[in-house]
Amino acid sequence: MADYDVIVVGAGNAALAAAVSARENGAERVVVLEKAPRAMRGGNTHWSGGVLRFAFDDPREIGPLLPGVEKEFEDFYAGIQPYTRADFHGDLMRVTSGQTDPVLSRVLVDNSKDTVFWMHETGQIKMEPAVSLTGVRKGNQIIWARGLVVRAEHEGVGLSRSWFAAVERLGIAVRYGAAVTALLQDESGRVSGVRVRDDEGIHELRSRSVILGCGGFEANVQMRTQHIGPLVGGAKVRGTPHNQGDGLRMAMAIGAMPWGQWSGCHATPISADWGNFAPREMTDRSNRLSYLYGVMINRKGNRFVDEGEDGAMFTYAKYGRAILAEPGAKVYQLFDSKTVHLLEPRYSTSDPLRADTLEALIEQLDIDDKPRALKTLREYNAAAHDIEEGFDATGKDGLSTHGLTPEKSNWALKLDKPPFYAYSATGGITFTFGGVKVDEEARVIGTDWRPIRGLTACGEMVGGLFYDNYPAGTGLVSGATFGRIAGRTSARA
Ligand SMILES: Cc1cc2nc3c(=O)[nH]c(=O)nc-3n(C[C@H](O)[C@H](O)[C@H](O)COP(=O)(O)OP(=O)(O)OC[C@H]3O[C@@H](n4cnc5c(N)ncnc54)[C@H](O)[C@@H]3O)c2cc1C
Repeated sequence: MADYDVIVVGAGNAALAAAVSARENGAERVVVLEKAPRAMRGGNTHWSGGVLRFAFDDPREIGPLLPGVEKEFEDFYAGIQPYTRADFHGDLMRVTSGQTDPVLSRVLVDNSKDTVFWMHETGQIKMEPAVSLTGVRKGNQIIWARGLVVRAEHEGVGLSRSWFAAVERLGIAVRYGAAVTALLQDESGRVSGVRVRDDEGIHELRSRSVILGCGGFEANVQMRTQHIGPLVGGAKVRGTPHNQGDGLRMAMAIGAMPWGQWSGCHATPISADWGNFAPREMTDRSNRLSYLYGVMINRKGNRFVDEGEDGAMFTYAKYGRAILAEPGAKVYQLFDSKTVHLLEPRYSTSDPLRADTLEALIEQLDIDDKPRALKTLREYNAAAHDIEEGFDATGKDGLSTHGLTPEKSNWALKLDKPPFYAYSATGGITFTFGGVKVDEEARVIGTDWRPIRGLTACGEMVGGLFYDNYPAGTGLVSGATFGRIAGRTSARA
């Protein structure tokens, strides 16, 4: 007799969605095994901004998620554009250069809205407008980034707390400090339980099926270095220290097929002043994503990316890695007083360097070639625009430089209004793109191209969705979508 119907490994967004779904679909005895102690529970989900990207045809469809929103924001719906399934899928295709898994990306996009409503209704996760991250004020109105209007109330902290409350309401047990170290199989090859290491030692738990929702390998320096490379090996970790690739290794140990871009990761510009692991209470406050309103220079005094290639929500996930490839993995973001008010609130967690001239600002920077930096800024200013020429912070404004390498394609304003500001930045790893192959029922597929019976996976462990880049707000919706499916599949088993 098995100890449980379903064992869920991990306690982030994907795993807890899976646990709730398994119970909803008839599994009586469900247990969640969380490696972290209670005080560190919840995985990257706790650290996240809680922003949720999903498709809708009419902005008013969002209404039930945000009761009373029209009292808070004038003309709320007028600032939102429809974001259809075709738009969402188009964004996934564009940022991944067409490499996103055709089956899994369709499952994600087609279920995205329904998943968020399920999180709200079944998970009782309260939502709020993601104003500080994706809303830009234009006159009396807020213009919202396409597809990115809603986030969990109190961001990742609220999302994680709500999932644990949902699990408790359903009477699902959570065991903390319970690190799963291996998957057990019966003679037929079916996954029949797990080996666990906890304070009492090592023991085995039997179940009819196992759901793996225990994250990627972003916190594991050896795996980062091996699969992504030494530059990312040295990156600071933005989220939980517990995502060490355990689930991927134990699934592959019984024949799961690696899938997706194992050399790829989500890495964003963050303050260079933070330590190797982000403090839990500071969650995602290290991000430095307003570079599109200024310029970035490296320690050699050169620009190195097109800061205005696209909205930050479509470039931030690759520019962290670009920064890691620069000398010393450290750069500076420079702004002047015309745009400094546009910086997102998270910049307030560090004090910028400040000066009344560009020369005096450069003098304060920890860089190797200051004359070159000044020349770069002068060349940039000669190729950039005055604000009256059509600057528009709410969307790509086409204000581009001409003749620079690299160009700045949008929001290319001269840096000419003192005082000037500089923020340090490095690359922080968020999560890894490589995972295991799952099918549309979240069943883990073996290297023999057949499902491994009794085993499903969800969340960061699912490989194939993201390559090189990532559209913001997709990780949580993907996690809940495949978690919900995994719960259903496992309950049926
Ligand atoms: C700073 C930051 C901001 C982010 N902001 C957003 C955002 O706004 N929107 C968005 O969509 N995405 C965001 N993301 C990405 C998002 O957080 C992840 O995609 C998502 O949380 C992953 O969910 P998950 O359940 O797969 O993994 P996690 O939430 O990381 O959960 C993994 C769980 O597995 C546990 N675990 C690991 N190994 C074992 C083991 N051996 N045994 C038992 N348990 C184990 C961990 O302790 C943890 O509980 C952000 C990430 C970070 C770090």
